Amino acid sequence: MQLDFRVLDGIQQILDSGEAYWLPEPLSANCTPPQTAPLSMTFASRNVPLATIALYDDMETMHCDLDRFDLRGLAGSGSLLHMGGLHTAELLDRLPEGTTIGSLSLLFAYRSPDEEWKRLVAHELVHALQFLQWDVSSTAAIYPYVAFLQEGTARYSEHALGFLEDFALRSAGPVSIWLAEGLDLRKAPEFLLYGIGASIVDALVRRRPPDVLWSALSGPCRSAIKNWFFASWFSCDAAFADAYGLSWDAFLDAWSSEAAAVVPPTGAELVYRWLHDAYGLRSRLLEPLLSAEVVDWIDRVEEAIYAGMAEPSQLDELDDILRAASGQPTPDVFEALHEREATVIDYARERAGAVGQVAEVLRLGILARRGDVAAEEYVRAFVDVVNVYVPIAVQQPMDR
Ligand SMILES: [Zn+2]
Repeated sequence: MQLDFRVLDGIQQILDSGEAYWLPEPLSANCTPPQTAPLSMTFASRNVPLATIALYDDMETMHCDLDRFDLRGLAGSGSLLHMGGLHTAELLDRLPEGTTIGSLSLLFAYRSPDEEWKRLVAHELVHALQFLQWDVSSTAAIYPYVAFLQEGTARYSEHALGFLEDFALRSAGPVSIWLAEGLDLRKAPEFLLYGIGASIVDALVRRRPPDVLWSALSGPCRSAIKNWFFASWFSCDAAFADAYGLSWDAFLDAWSSEAAAVVPPTGAELVYRWLHDAYGLRSRLLEPLLSAEVVDWIDRVEEAIYAGMAEPSQLDELDDILRAASGQPTPDVFEALHEREATVIDYARERAGAVGQVAEVLRLGILARRGDVAAEEYVRAFVDVVNVYVPIAVQQPMDR
């Protein structure tokens, strides 16, 4: 891993200057947070107001605040909000009165007891900088693949900053396994978005220093009209060819043969299976129905997977556990499942097309909360839809 993204230096500085974060009182309690200057970083000798980071010591408070921005769902440990385009005024209205954030991105993050939150913040700050600087809308060849580059540079940065280990096991190995089935990037599944992205970025920064990539993707200006006007002689495609000495398509050909030639390290097959069958997401969706011991055990299995030390039988066992998930349907469990319905809709209905099945889950949920059907009936339908359709959803080709 090369470590000289100038982007990364800036992000490392931000992460090191611990007192610079905005530690909000709950927005939802109508407290006015202290006015905070957005974190800036120097990039290409300009000082850029990058993002305002609201860092929470308590996940529940963060979730309540995210609710104000319609971002709740199954929000994990953070979320990034871009203030740009049509909805800016509407979004700013939802901040407590008198609050200014002074940056185009507002990042919500839960400060977990481990260092995990720094990885999230680093990842999202890369996205914030892309939002400010990248111009890829005026390009022909690169445009369909921009999601790979966005997530790829963000994931690559996690590795390069040392928050994520074992690039070969997490990314290169699973990507090589996928490529063995034949290359068609347009059919690349969502579950490999980060892996393929990081692999492409890795191949690019082996060819030229990382900053060259960032420059090629940062257009001459951030204006759709000017970009349209200038694109004919300074498009991103042209900048890419100029920087790397070959076209984007020719690069992709070269990348795919290099990436396919990687021998997957021990354990990469199980990482691939973990992602392909959406074990992580299914576990989070069904967590309210699992005992604390089982949830702990799943955490250990996940750790073992990403340490390359898991056994196939552990995944078989986890699959059985997830399919048999039940548990006491207490009001808390109901509430927790209800909160997860938005994610089930997003994956099972929107991506896997399970329209009728999801409608039935929602219907049973309403009836069960009213006490009109047995709680077990709702739980059963919820569990089945998650186990059948969420894996299908993540296996769909990336939307573009
Ligand atoms: Zn991302």
